[in-house]
Amino acid sequence: AESFDEECDYLFKAVLIGDSAVGKSNLLSRFGKNEFCIESKPTIGVEFAYRNIRVGDKLVKAQIWDTAGQERFRAITSSYYRGALGALLVYDITRKSTFESLKKWLKEVREFGSREMVVVLVGNKSDLAHHREVNIEDGRSLAQLEDLSFMETSAKENLNVEEAFLQMITRIYQLSC
Ligand code: GDP
Ligand code: MG
Repeated sequence: AESFDEECDYLFKAVLIGDSAVGKSNLLSRFGKNEFCIESKPTIGVEFAYRNIRVGDKLVKAQIWDTAGQERFRAITSSYYRGALGALLVYDITRKSTFESLKKWLKEVREFGSREMVVVLVGNKSDLAHHREVNIEDGRSLAQLEDLSFMETSAKENLNVEEAFLQMITRIYQLSC
């Protein structure tokens, strides 16, 4: 594992977005494991975490912002998105309403995010398949329509979490380095 303050070649900012309680914070702490550092800025209602990742022969430091429960407060929106090159857009496969909100989130991404922002659509809580309200095909076809990557994850069972973040970070790297 790379240490937190090791020299890095690139620094990327990415954001977590999606309705409350879809599992954003759990995805982030799962992605972090021990090589992780969480800082918070309670004043603006965000938390962020760093992790160093090797992409090819480069060391990339990903700084990932989380909304710390401020999803409904639009005031933080522009500072939240400023400079972000990627986003994980998360819904909960057991709550259809969180999938229906994606339209609103995508509108916000287009309004506040950079034009080339890499967005990975994430259907979280795949371990709760018996309570599923959103079919995997619906996630997949929305992603296709909106030109996003797509993955179902379980933060609880650590399924596909690493893959979702790495896909976003690798894609950012390919586009901007
Ligand atoms: P946030 O508001 O989007 O940051 O969501 P949280 O990370 O706080 O999670 C909201 C709730 O969903 C918590 O009770 C978590 O324990 C639960 N949760 C998060 N991810 C998963 C998951 O993959 N599977 C299950 N079963 N529960 C999860
Ligand atoms: Mg949270």
